[in-house]
Amino acid sequence: MLIDCHAHLYLKEFNNDQHQVIQSAKNAGVSYILNAGIDIASSAKSIEISDNYSGMFASVGIHPHSAHKVAPGFIEELHVLASTPKVVAIGEIGLDYHWTTKHRPEQLKILNQQLELAQQLQLPVIIHCRNAEEEAVKTLESWVSSNPLPNHKWRGIRHCFSGDYDTAMRYIDMGFMLSFGGYIGYPSSRKLPQVICSLPHEALLIETDCPYMPPQKYRGKRNEPAYLVHTASTLAEIMGKTYEEIAGITIANAAELFNLDL
Ligand SMILES: [Zn+2]
Repeated sequence: MLIDCHAHLYLKEFNNDQHQVIQSAKNAGVSYILNAGIDIASSAKSIEISDNYSGMFASVGIHPHSAHKVAPGFIEELHVLASTPKVVAIGEIGLDYHWTTKHRPEQLKILNQQLELAQQLQLPVIIHCRNAEEEAVKTLESWVSSNPLPNHKWRGIRHCFSGDYDTAMRYIDMGFMLSFGGYIGYPSSRKLPQVICSLPHEALLIETDCPYMPPQKYRGKRNEPAYLVHTASTLAEIMGKTYEEIAGITIANAAELFNLDL
């Protein structure tokens, strides 16, 4: 069994076959899927999917790309959504300066408001970060240090991690697990295996980020949760472990972080 810690099955790419995609994930052994919201509407849709299927969970949040477009009162709306039973995290939230830094102040403000909400609800966070690593790490470090959680070691996930060892350890030291996707098998990711091998097993998760970033075998196509088996196999190869060991490690880590009985 595997858990896909980051999917977007509510996007239009799955409009025609969402049900089949979920069934083929289950047939492939991907028994658990977390759909991550990127705004209020998609957060509500993630919850709806999780209510319709067993093994499905949701996270609710405003993606940095939507930070400058939020309506007043968005945090109250998120609060209501986050209080429903299948919501296990606040996310995806974060910073993204890849296309522009124009909305940097809004992105920081919205991120901090959502970190505060997560703290209030005692939920882990799912962090998206692109071309903003230093600022993201600093923002999270100050959040973690001013909001200690006496009984929890883990605070969240840095999703789609592809950085170096030092950055990885900064996240892990503040209580963030690192989630890896299909890109770990891309020829361009040749430095990543060495980083992954030196990380503590207790911090590893896998995800698809579907419909984006399919494993090498499916590049150019739509990604879907069933393809997570390829990422698990690649990770097993990289770490010199069996597929079953990788499945066991990543399921146990997700169960611990999200406080689930998987
Ligand atoms: Zn995503």
